[in-house]
Amino acid sequence: MKMTIAGVILLFCIILIIIAVRALKNKGAKSAESDSTASQPTETASVNQLKTDTLASAGNLAAMYDYDKAIAAIEAYSGYESDTDMTAAIANYTSAKSSCTAADLSTVPHVFFHSLINDNRAFLVTDQVTPLLVQGNNSAMTTTGEFDAMLNDMYKAGYVLIGLDDIVIKTANTDGTETLAKNTALMLPAGKKPLLMSEDDLSYYHFMGENGIQGYADKLVLDSDGKVKCLFTDKSGTQQIGDYDMVPKIDTFISEHPDFCYQGARPTVALTGYNGVLGYRTNDYYKEGPDGEHLSSDQKAYLTNHPDYNYDNEVAEATKIADAMKAEGWTFASHTYGHWNASTHSAEELATDNERWNTTVRDVVGDTDKIIFAFGADIGPVNGYNESNDKFTYFLSQGYHIYCNVDGNIGWTEFGSNYVRTGRVPLDGVSMYNAMTESASSHTTYAHDYEVLGINDIASFFDPDRTLEYCTAES
Ligand SMILES: [Zn+2]
Repeated sequence: MKMTIAGVILLFCIILIIIAVRALKNKGAKSAESDSTASQPTETASVNQLKTDTLASAGNLAAMYDYDKAIAAIEAYSGYESDTDMTAAIANYTSAKSSCTAADLSTVPHVFFHSLINDNRAFLVTDQVTPLLVQGNNSAMTTTGEFDAMLNDMYKAGYVLIGLDDIVIKTANTDGTETLAKNTALMLPAGKKPLLMSEDDLSYYHFMGENGIQGYADKLVLDSDGKVKCLFTDKSGTQQIGDYDMVPKIDTFISEHPDFCYQGARPTVALTGYNGVLGYRTNDYYKEGPDGEHLSSDQKAYLTNHPDYNYDNEVAEATKIADAMKAEGWTFASHTYGHWNASTHSAEELATDNERWNTTVRDVVGDTDKIIFAFGADIGPVNGYNESNDKFTYFLSQGYHIYCNVDGNIGWTEFGSNYVRTGRVPLDGVSMYNAMTESASSHTTYAHDYEVLGINDIASFFDPDRTLEYCTAES
């Protein structure tokens, strides 16, 4: 018995000694660590890192033609005057800035897209994908492969993305109105040309189907780094988060090619409200439930298939995405609430529609002074809007100053004293097909548009799964 107790005590002592030795070793390791943190070489390394980071950040700003901010970033670094790398960078940026000239913003090409198609499910008729949908996908849509190729061509041709707000200088008047004037001081280096871009109908409408059934993303989401990406179900049925539409594709392209971007500019996204925005069902009519009097059959089917639908959650999530996009430089435009043709609807009807847009879209994305008319329609003739135009006076009273239609004459732009209007060209199935089959001699052909944009070999990227006869006319 005594022997057993002595054995247990001995074992206990051995364990205690082992624990004590391990604790001492750990303490030693930790103090060695904190000693090295305080040592001279690491301090120098962190100073070097700060200098490297400052130069990288300034270099990125300068690549985006923001030479003043680049120089200010370096001047914020303590002791930059005595650092030859820093002073050389300032000299470079000063020289680059002085060699820039003012871009002519009277003829800026404005290209637009819809949600991008990620695979050939868009082009194949199935039980769930009707011939009518296949026809629409062929005519009005663009694939990710086609988009990538065209973006790269425009970049190589020297185009630089500017924002719609960059083309005008706005001055607030004392009566609350704004006076607009053409920006005559947007400075770019030799060989660089301004380009406007927009994406229409970024709602992931019900007709596009859920879970990638036609190769479209389902919605925009934030990834673990807070970046705007797409939720997309690939052909194997696996959910992916990545660059499956224009928004994340442009952000990624600019992070890799900052010289495609003028001072942080991003395209404008044109939104309707009837199916919600950005893949979220933010129309308050969905609150009526599956039998709602204001809902269409596909909206009712959506609610039946999603009994957990929660309006407040949809608005909260969509607002997070919109905020992240705005922080990155994206802007939003009205595309009318109901995708209405502004040419054929009356001013009173457009006013009613705009109230619905405010409820379903503006409350999520915030105020905008931009309207991109659906169907490429317009509210006035090419020779200008005036005060006798009741649609124009209504939209102006609602704060809209930037108007966009679709125009066959690429780069068509009109500057009024209280508005600016730009004509857009689609880079979609119809325009690509026509551009391949036309002569570029006329200014109003698609072939001419693509030539201006530096997109010269459409056949090399035109999606082989397209059906050519569906690409010959808008559906
Ligand atoms: Zn549209």
